[in-house]
Amino acid sequence: MDKLSIIVPCYNEEESIPLFYEAVQKVVTKMDIEPEYWFVNDGSHDNSLAEMRALHEKDEKHVHYISFSRNFGKEAGLLAGLDAATGDYVVVMDVDLQDPPEFLPEMYKELQSGEYDCIGTRRVDRTGEAKIKSFLSDMFYKCINKISNTEIVPGARDFRMMTRQMVDAVLSMREYSRFSKGIFSWVGFKTKYLDYHNVERVAGESDWSTWQLFKYAMDGISDFSQAPLSLAVWTGSVTSAISVISIIFVIIRKIMSPMSSIFGWASMVSIILFLGGIQLLCIGIVGKYIGRIYLQVKHRPIYIVKEKK
Ligand code: UDP
Ligand code: MG
Repeated sequence: MDKLSIIVPCYNEEESIPLFYEAVQKVVTKMDIEPEYWFVNDGSHDNSLAEMRALHEKDEKHVHYISFSRNFGKEAGLLAGLDAATGDYVVVMDVDLQDPPEFLPEMYKELQSGEYDCIGTRRVDRTGEAKIKSFLSDMFYKCINKISNTEIVPGARDFRMMTRQMVDAVLSMREYSRFSKGIFSWVGFKTKYLDYHNVERVAGESDWSTWQLFKYAMDGISDFSQAPLSLAVWTGSVTSAISVISIIFVIIRKIMSPMSSIFGWASMVSIILFLGGIQLLCIGIVGKYIGRIYLQVKHRPIYIVKEKK
């Protein structure tokens, strides 16, 4: 019998954990597989860990958990789960039941046919989400797919089932700053996407503010594209070219009519401010990449485990 590892990152999800287990268990028992749950407690401040311990006591053979020493973020939680998983197939799920467990049998069947290495899911609508959020995320997908060689599928969730081979490929990427949507796509392999309608979370609240999502998008871009650096180079080249032309123009004007340089204070200030702004912007872009190099070369662990069972 195949073993299916189910990876569930949890942050302050005490209410959702038992509901999730119950809902997934209902589906999994009907499938011809052996489940292996890996709940990852990402430094929750509530009783999430106690809930995980209780589930582990109830079903020691199948339910495991990892508890971090603090909050390391969902991406770190996913990695910890993938590191621990021993299944032939691995599925990554949110604990809030926004990833419907009803998809599991279909995903498993598709993978078994051997044609695909990964079955992902894609949201086709965004009911119950703020308009501005949907707009920004549309913009993000359009932008990143223009400037990055790694395809990021619009609306794709992290909810996906992978073969062991693909999981090993994902695990070979030990980058510090992890953008899973990009990583899953970067490793290649054949992925099929199942469409589904947005489901509201079963309990608790999402911790993602629009600003956090924006930052996440920016991180994604700098992780999987060097286009911002090229943009800096191009802006620099264009402004340099313009300045050479301007210098020639100013010298010729000075020779032709020496008095003319008394005027032009306003334009001078505008030019200085404009160039200063562009310089700061370009330094900022470069700085963003240097910051990522800095984090990577320190070789800090991506997560720290306090308890694992
Ligand atoms: N999560 C996590 N660490 C965090 C934030 C979130 O492990 O720092 C988990 C959370 O418990 C949930 C999943 O990541 O299982 C998705 O989070 P959420 O529902 O808040 O995001 P959304 O569904 O709005 O994208
Ligand atoms: Mg959610």
